[in-house]
Amino acid sequence: MAIDRIVDTSVHDDDSDEQIIEVTLRPQNFDEYIGQERLKKNLRLAIDAAKKRDEPMDHVLLYGPPGLGKTTMANVIANEMGAGFRITSGPAIEKAGDLASILTNLQDGDILFIDEIHRLGRAVEEVLYSAMEDFKLDIVIGKGPAARSIRLDLPKFTVIGATTRTGSLAAPLRDRFGHLHRLEFYTPDEIAAIITRASAILESEIKPESAALLSTRARLTPRIANRLLKRVRDYADVNGDGIIDTVMTTEALALMEVDELGLDPADRRMLTSIIETYGDRPVGLNTIAALTGDEATTIEDFYEPYLMQIGFIERTPRGRAVTQKAKRHLES
Ligand code: ADP
Repeated sequence: MAIDRIVDTSVHDDDSDEQIIEVTLRPQNFDEYIGQERLKKNLRLAIDAAKKRDEPMDHVLLYGPPGLGKTTMANVIANEMGAGFRITSGPAIEKAGDLASILTNLQDGDILFIDEIHRLGRAVEEVLYSAMEDFKLDIVIGKGPAARSIRLDLPKFTVIGATTRTGSLAAPLRDRFGHLHRLEFYTPDEIAAIITRASAILESEIKPESAALLSTRARLTPRIANRLLKRVRDYADVNGDGIIDTVMTTEALALMEVDELGLDPADRRMLTSIIETYGDRPVGLNTIAALTGDEATTIEDFYEPYLMQIGFIERTPRGRAVTQKAKRHLES
């Protein structure tokens, strides 16, 4: 997927050379994890109960748009449980054998984080059901008439699954999770707090009014907030004395062409071309994808959730419609 827009919620290629920074920016415990108060309250209770019973926690499914902190929360849960943390993803587990080797290498109490769990193949999913249900692994050894099935005991572990879409998850898999939680978009105040915390870690001085300004442009999403902060910080280092004030922030945002609501030129082009081509008529996702040249899943996972959150796109039974609110914004 070739996306390099500043405001997109996927992990950028150029984020990877900043992994050392990323590790330190990631909150490590509940106190550092800003926002999602209801989720934290529920998880705290579940963790305390599991610890009291000296058992691993029930499996957890976290769902919601990318960049809102699902991976971070999984890591926080592991830290709060004092448990080992293993990370994998739906597309990375290609065969049932891949999953078997991951599962047999787990320790008692470990947390296995499966990102994009909706992308697991059917055969792999089936192995996962019984592993999650009764910590057993059924494997077939040999081929033909000599083949026999054996049942291995697995350590008691906790799966934390993350998905952008619960709808794409097979019902039997969804049913194996004791805790299902949706991550919400953050409020601008929470995003400002995330930006202030991140700039302190990066040892950059940011004025409160700049944090407030950036917080309205970050699509209510921590991943974008941190990315915008890094870009504005670069701008202030090169064009000023490194202090992130209103002038530096406004100039950097203008250069990045991110508007007052966090929309970039590609968002504006997409909305405008839907309006110009279809007027008020709803359009299907594939039609939008054809208009913009993106994949339908990219639009659905990465761009649309925020545009729906701010009331710019509505889902109707006959497709997506651009709202009057969006039209007024585009005309302003
Ligand atoms: P997801 O797994 O939902 O795509 P991540 O957990 O990778 O999102 O979060 C993206 C980035 O945003 C993280 O690297 C982290 O630095 C930051 N982040 C996420 N949630 C929070 C939070 N609640 N408080 C502070 N920073 C956060």
